[in-house]
Amino acid sequence: MLADVVIVGAGPVGATLALALADSDLDVVVLDARAAGDTLRGDRSLALSHGARLILERVGVWSALAATADAVTPITRIDISQAGGFGAMQLAAEEQGVPALGYVVSYRALQAALDAALARSGIALRHRTTVSAVGGTPAYAAVTLDNAESEPVLARLAAVADGTGASVAGIARRRHDYGQVAVIAKVWSARPHAGLAYERFTPEGPMALLPEGDHYGLVWTATPERAKALLAEDDDAFLGELARRFANRSGGFAKVGERRSFPLAMEYAAVPASARCIVVGNAAQTLHPVAGQGFNLGLRDAWELAQILVDTPSEAIGNRAMLARYIAARRTDRLAGIALTHGLVGIFGNDLPLASWPRGLALTLLGAVPAAKRAFARAMLFGLR
Ligand SMILES: Cc1cc2nc3c(=O)[nH]c(=O)nc-3n(C[C@H](O)[C@H](O)[C@H](O)COP(=O)(O)OP(=O)(O)OC[C@H]3O[C@@H](n4cnc5c(N)ncnc54)[C@H](O)[C@@H]3O)c2cc1C
Repeated sequence: MLADVVIVGAGPVGATLALALADSDLDVVVLDARAAGDTLRGDRSLALSHGARLILERVGVWSALAATADAVTPITRIDISQAGGFGAMQLAAEEQGVPALGYVVSYRALQAALDAALARSGIALRHRTTVSAVGGTPAYAAVTLDNAESEPVLARLAAVADGTGASVAGIARRRHDYGQVAVIAKVWSARPHAGLAYERFTPEGPMALLPEGDHYGLVWTATPERAKALLAEDDDAFLGELARRFANRSGGFAKVGERRSFPLAMEYAAVPASARCIVVGNAAQTLHPVAGQGFNLGLRDAWELAQILVDTPSEAIGNRAMLARYIAARRTDRLAGIALTHGLVGIFGNDLPLASWPRGLALTLLGAVPAAKRAFARAMLFGLR
């Protein structure tokens, strides 16, 4: 049997795509390696833009998510600064005419809300189904399953949202290793966060404090050697250094939870499609967390793909014209998100001699010139088109 669309991966992006197609006449099958009720990424927090919230509202999961205790923390102000240079900028929600600049959302709670909505939607979702390869013919996509006894799943289009795109052949990827590591931890500040997030650019790399429930989620970029030392330090030494790094902008810290680290790299598909296949979400682009763009781009991939699918006659789904339409529709937003993130790391993340003046200038300009500040804020809120 030939489905219209097979979605590989029901993580936040794949599940959003499936829900955006729930009211269409399309025959959609969703496959995920997870067992029902499992979450892939335990306690990770996601940075959501205002535009991403609108997408989650449209697919009917935002209100359940917002009603879950501690699942959503609004960011009402962002303080952007750099160590040892001029210039700092504050973005405030009220200036932008939105209720919040963004939200910090629990991956686990979001996945639970999406899973519940998928179960209600009646969409065919096969759990514990691991995909080993996505291929096919010019006429259809064939998705091979890990379990050799299972028949491949055939569809006009395979939409791959497995977080890596590892199972798809024929998509050229570009990778940039930043040679840096992100140290992440929960930290409790001496005073309540009141929705204020911090982004600080230091000679070692960018750092962020994102308000989350009663604490902050810390992302601290460092060299691998430095990260090792940060993980080994006792809590007091770690918190003292953190406060110095932030030049006490946040009023000091009282407690830190478990510290973990992961290597930082950017990887993206130059063209996010191959015959009868489109990659979306992290499978299409995995970005440095500095600008909080990655997950938001992924949700916009899912939303725009769904709009194109419902607008395409069934027999044309997955053909070259449809793939070309999707690639063109996502081109500007994807490349701008990738460039913005990479540019921020490049401009602000290096300890180049004499670079602190232009860094400060860029920040000062963003803060002082209303049009530039608005454009920057809009890019953070809604992405670029
Ligand atoms: C180490 C790390 C840290 C991050 N930290 C942050 C952060 O702090 N803030 C932030 O906003 N973003 C962060 N991100 C990015 C964020 O996690 C992603 O943007 C988001 O998870 C992307 O969602 P997704 O649905 O594309 O992929 P995923 O969340 O990876 O979901 C993929 C889904 O596909 C399924 N799957 C995978 N392989 C297969 C297969 N072969 N067959 C069938 N199913 C499969 C999985 O079970 C899962 O349900 C981080 C990413 C990484 C890698």
